[in-house]
Amino acid sequence: MAAAAVQPDFSGGGRADEVILRNNDSTLELPFASSVSIEANAGALRAACRCAWCTKARVEGAFPGGFSGLSITQIKPIGTYALNLHFSDGHDRGVFPWSYLRQLAKGLSG
Ligand SMILES: [Zn+2]
Repeated sequence: MAAAAVQPDFSGGGRADEVILRNNDSTLELPFASSVSIEANAGALRAACRCAWCTKARVEGAFPGGFSGLSITQIKPIGTYALNLHFSDGHDRGVFPWSYLRQLAKGLSG
């Protein structure tokens, strides 16, 4: 297994040092060793899910316009490249590569 002291790679798939849930598990906080910390709301992450189910729903116009009151119920690392997030609405298929999480957090924080 990888040691804890992994240097974040902001050009590729570098991961955060820690994965922290705050605000009753509705906010995902990802601090990086460089002191940059990114935050993402559970509802926004759910809305950004790229799994096959969500992609199909978007294509069919059946994807919800927004998710409110969601929390993250479980976080599973997928190797060193991604997190699998489980949401309180029961959706647990989303795989969020670190590069995608950073991209999302940038967009979500404005
Ligand atoms: Zn999904």
